[in-house]
Amino acid sequence: MEHTTKKASTKGLLQTEELYQYILETSVYPREPAPLKELRDVTASHPWSLMGTAPDAGQLMTLLLKLVNAKNTIEIGVFTGYSLLLTALTIPDDGKITAIDLSRESYEIGLPVIRKAGVEHKINFVESEALPVLDKLLESHEKQGSFDFAFVDADKVNFWNYHERLMKLVKVGGIVVYDNTLWGGSIVMPEELAPERMRDGRKFTLEFNKLLAADPRIHISHAALGDGITICLRSV
Ligand code: SAH
Ligand code: CA
Repeated sequence: MEHTTKKASTKGLLQTEELYQYILETSVYPREPAPLKELRDVTASHPWSLMGTAPDAGQLMTLLLKLVNAKNTIEIGVFTGYSLLLTALTIPDDGKITAIDLSRESYEIGLPVIRKAGVEHKINFVESEALPVLDKLLESHEKQGSFDFAFVDADKVNFWNYHERLMKLVKVGGIVVYDNTLWGGSIVMPEELAPERMRDGRKFTLEFNKLLAADPRIHISHAALGDGITICLRSV
């Protein structure tokens, strides 16, 4: 197998960039709600714009939210709010998203678009480390099993800690989606060939993927959309 850094830096993990573009142009962009496109455009000039959820992964998330009739959701890692806005646009008017991010700064960039789309009232933004917020939620008995859906897209080192808590907060039959579970393709590179800045994330992702695969509480699907997403259905 050939290992190149180019492969690690492209967003699509398909065989060719052209195939990925084909999917985006044929099936994703034409159906992308206008506010989401606007949010992508506002984010494009941000130096970390690549952190935004990939639109093809976002499209599958929308479908999953619909499938489980999600009303109450958790979002860990908001950035400028692409995945948050798609969730807010999809859940019903009286739905609620507990959206957690260390910093409000990037969220402020997307907020005007979210307001214009008329969905801000569905969002409870919490500026904090995610772990203590989840622990706090777990303290109240009625919050356990009360969420239909969660999207985890923050610090990879804590993914398993988030998973342990989400297995209690999300109801049986609910879904948890983890982002970047193929870590730019670096997980199949020998460590020394992976770009330095990706090595820690590569290690955590490899460990996390193994743990998820062995977790009897869930059904999973590891999909090569965007930067890799793993969909978990809580089954017990
Ligand atoms: N889902 C977003 C992308 C999230 S990027 C989108 O679709 O655009 C990752 C975000 O996680 C960053 O905004 C970062 O501030 C946040 N983050 C990193 N570590 C965190 C932690 N420990 N707790 C909460 N948020 C964290
Ligand atoms: Ca991500």
